[in-house]
This record gives sequence, C-alpha cells and structure tokens, in this order.
Amino acid sequence: MSRHKHKKRFGQNFLHNPRVIERIVKAIRPQPTDHLVEIGPGEAAITLPLARSGARVDVIEIDRDLIPRLEALFAPHDNVTLHAADALTFDYSTLDPKPLRVVGNLPYNISSPLLFHLLDYRDHIRDMHFMLQKEVVDRIVAQPGSKTYGRLSVMIQYYCEAQYLFTVGPGNFNPPPKVDSAIVRLTPRPFPVQAKDDTLLSDLVKQAFSQRRKTLRNTLKGWLDDTDFEALGIDPGLRAEALPVADFVRLANHLHHKRV
Ligand code: SAM
Repeated sequence: MSRHKHKKRFGQNFLHNPRVIERIVKAIRPQPTDHLVEIGPGEAAITLPLARSGARVDVIEIDRDLIPRLEALFAPHDNVTLHAADALTFDYSTLDPKPLRVVGNLPYNISSPLLFHLLDYRDHIRDMHFMLQKEVVDRIVAQPGSKTYGRLSVMIQYYCEAQYLFTVGPGNFNPPPKVDSAIVRLTPRPFPVQAKDDTLLSDLVKQAFSQRRKTLRNTLKGWLDDTDFEALGIDPGLRAEALPVADFVRLANHLHHKRV
C-alpha cells in the first residue's frame, strides 16, 4: 500500500515513538471488559495496542483515504469496529454496551468543539484520555487565580474531574507539530453544586470572561447587581479569573431564580 500523505486539514500528526504509545496505553489501562471508543485512529498507532488488551474498540475516522489501510490492519481483530464518520457529529449513544471509555490523539483544530460534543454524552462515558496541545490541557486543568484559568477550565471542571498526566514533545510525531502536547484524563462526575440550567451557566461564564481585566460587577452588569453578589457572599470587585467553579454555579442559579 502506498504511503499516506498527511493531511493538515484533518490535524494529522501521527505518533511514531513506541515508548510514548506504551505510556498512553498504560495510563488508559484497558481491560478485556472495557468498551473503548477511539477518535481519529490515523494509522492505528494506539488502536492496535488497545485492541490487544481484548477490549471492544469502536474507531471513528473521517479520512476516507485511511479506511482501506485500517480495514486491513483490523481484519485479524474481531473486537475492533471501524466507523468512517465525523467524530464531531457522531451519535455516541448508539454504541453499546455502556459505559464508554473514549480515547484519542485529537486533531488540534477541532479539540474544543469535540470536547463539548462528547460532554453531551457524559452520562454514557466512564472516562476520556486525550492528547491535546499542552496549552489547551494547561487551560483545562487551571485553577482559579492562574493566568490560564478561563471558560474552558470552568466548563470542563464543572462536568469532569480533569487530570494532567504527562507532556509529549513534538519529535514523537510525524510530521512534528509546532508545539508541545500533553495527555489529559477527564472523568465525568456530578459536580457537588448542580446548575439549574446548564445553558445559563455556560452563557454566564462566557460573559464573565468576555473581558478578563474587568471585575464581575462590570462584566455582569445587567445580569446581576451588588445586592445579588451580597446575597451570595461573593465580592463583585473580583475578576472572573479569581472565581471558583462552585461560585459560577451559585451565580447562575441565583440568576435563574431571579428570571423565573
Ligand atoms: N491516532 C493516530 C496517532 O496517534 O498516530 C492519529 C492522530 S492524528 C493527530 C488525528 C486523527 O484524527 C487523524 O487520523 C485524522 O484523520 C482524524 N480526524 C480528524 N478530524 C476528524 C473528525 N472530525 N472525525 C474523526 N476523525 C478525525
């Protein structure tokens, strides 16, 4: 079979270092009873070691040029099912049995929308292990008060426990990307304070971070006033970057009650 020409539009940076692949598989710890879903198998660098665990593996690949090669590679593995599909619109609830364990060395250009699409299926997902740009993983796991704490940190941490596992340098990929990558583990769980309306929470967080240098009193003007902040014991003179996730949920729930 001819060599595959890497497509930039599909974010094709293929892993070639067996030590990194082994480290990723060790972090996932696939068990024969698991149901794994891999997004973007590329040339199956991670898929084959995952399949050897005996776990059931569903694989979603958008690039039709890769499909014949993948079919040939998966032929000896009857526990692998290939879907020639777009992971961004895929209906994960159709995959059984649940819960699913999602993995992927993700195309960087679609990582945020893909994360949010997958979060819609969080009730069916046990955990997710992703390779992303290191800078994105830094933002996902950031704590209040840090420069990288923002909308992505609040929304992902509301739905999941997020753990930075390890950094992977550009030399481990072909072709090498321009930046460092990192592996993150996301484990969906109910947040201790539940939002009454997830869309309202998301809108409020977006608004609060729309101007990072402004205080909550300013960014949320027209949404909440000083008496609202006072009722919750939250200082309106703070910036969004200082506010813990739970306080965003409390602000959103207060706003929800005001509106209904
Ligand atoms: N898993 C392989 C590896 O680690 O070597 C390839 C990783 S590469 C960074 C990203 C893979 O995702 C490519 O195979 C690409 O074709 C695929 N891909 C890109 N966009 C996709 C989408 N929307 N749905 C499914 N797969 C996609």
